[in-house]
Amino acid sequence: MSFDNQGKHPAWFREWQKKFYNSKKWKKVRDDVRDEKKMRCEKCKKLIRGIAIVDHVIELNVDNYTDESITLNKENTELLCLPCHNRKTFGSNEIDKFDVDEKRNVNLF
Ligand SMILES: [Zn+2]
Repeated sequence: MSFDNQGKHPAWFREWQKKFYNSKKWKKVRDDVRDEKKMRCEKCKKLIRGIAIVDHVIELNVDNYTDESITLNKENTELLCLPCHNRKTFGSNEIDKFDVDEKRNVNLF
């Protein structure tokens, strides 16, 4: 999952991502994963109280986005708390700016 990768992917793909993350099929997978993992972060093993992000292990890209065995496969997801997700996606230097969003309790997906 990537919601802040301006420049990394072409515009049409970012549009596809927006549609995908709003699709019923994805939301079902996402909700199932949150349920099955009982809201526990797979990295820090803490109970997630804020935003629980269902992240793709193999990141979606222009080559694999039509492959539902990647996009909608629970085996290709992990449940992360926001700090762990940001550490993974943006590196530790970028965490501060996303803490602001957490305090506002912005629902990313
Ligand atoms: Zn965590």
